[in-house]
Amino acid sequence: MKNILLLGATGSIGTSVLSVIKQNKEKLNLYGIAQESNIDKALAISKDFSPKYIYFNEKHNLPDCEFLDKKTKLLFEKEELETLINDPNIDYIVSAISGFAGLESTLMAAKTGKKILLANKESIVVAGELIIPIAEHYQSKIIPIDSEHNAIFQCLDDDKNIDDVSKIIITASGGPFVYKDLKDLVNVTKSEALKHPNWNMGSKISIDSATLVNKCLELIEARYLFNLNEKYFQLVIHPESIIHSIVTYKDGSSISQMSNPDMKVPIANAFSDNKRLHINFEEINFSDLNLSFKNFPEDRKFLEDMAREICNLGGLSGTTFNASNEIAVESFLKDQIKFYQIYDVICRTFESVSMSNDISIESIYEMDKLTRIEAKKVVKSIS
Ligand code: NAD
Ligand code: MG
Repeated sequence: MKNILLLGATGSIGTSVLSVIKQNKEKLNLYGIAQESNIDKALAISKDFSPKYIYFNEKHNLPDCEFLDKKTKLLFEKEELETLINDPNIDYIVSAISGFAGLESTLMAAKTGKKILLANKESIVVAGELIIPIAEHYQSKIIPIDSEHNAIFQCLDDDKNIDDVSKIIITASGGPFVYKDLKDLVNVTKSEALKHPNWNMGSKISIDSATLVNKCLELIEARYLFNLNEKYFQLVIHPESIIHSIVTYKDGSSISQMSNPDMKVPIANAFSDNKRLHINFEEINFSDLNLSFKNFPEDRKFLEDMAREICNLGGLSGTTFNASNEIAVESFLKDQIKFYQIYDVICRTFESVSMSNDISIESIYEMDKLTRIEAKKVVKSIS
């Protein structure tokens, strides 16, 4: 039996992870959960799975629940979370907190020598340069569950073939506006932007998919996870989200991983230790399949260029990109800016903040804070 600590249990990824655990009860056990404030959902999960530990990042007064008996421990302090992450009984830590907030626990997890199922791409975008060597030093194994990166991970056969790679194609659904040009996005609404055609996800990543910033974050994530120059990666729009990425080898063979869009598939792979787990899934109907591909849109090339520049610059550039995007998305969700202005906030903040290559955990936190202040100024000036 493998014990799992699920960070971000009440979110969209958390829900898919719980479903995979439920379908493999004889192999997987939910040992602990961590989340922000969704008390009802956390309690429902606890009732269903009886984890030993429940962590909230703030103190809450919870209602009396008979199932929260002496066997379940409630945690509210950061130090308690750190102790839990280091609990020797835990085999897998799922990093599925959304945004920059996931960095701290991902870093803690990287120092444990355990297996980390990584959904929180933002932590790699801002701190991949530090987290990957830390994980290697402590012999922690990072297994991506972002669908594209898990696809690459599967096609690389656990990175045994990395030297033979000639190219990696990262596919993108294109989000809800895949058939629209940038100039057509002036008046799109929040509910249109949140309505992803293929995936049901948390609000932040849904907006990132609509702007295509998600694919840029994923390019940076891939550069660190697979330790390859950005030149190896090509971004291609594939609206059906069936092929989750493609690895082309030096001998001309291209290997892809396919499934209907369902996050349970990469999650089950990441828990499998190379032995496939059983889950319920909707089979691809190959006789009725039309797959299409198109170039990353020319009018969003400036974003891709920015991501490639960040891959090459390293240092604190990923932190600036991520923080300006988080403020832009938050401002859009609060109706402070329009959809297309998300790009303005990112670009103008990126230009106005001076970045250093001196990267440390402290400098990341400092740069994140500074960038957020700058980005909020930009929001104020355009809203
Ligand atoms: P979500 O918003 O649905 O859930 C986020 C979870 O994080 C919630 O459980 C929330 O309570 C918790 N959380 C937030 N801040 C916290 C904090 N400070 N301390 C403790 N818990 C906190 O997000 P999601 O869509 O599940 O995405 C999670 C991560 O996975 C993101 O980094 C996202 O980019 C990545 N990802 C998601 C998908 C998807 O299909 N949803 C796919 C690929 C990657
Ligand atoms: Mg993805």
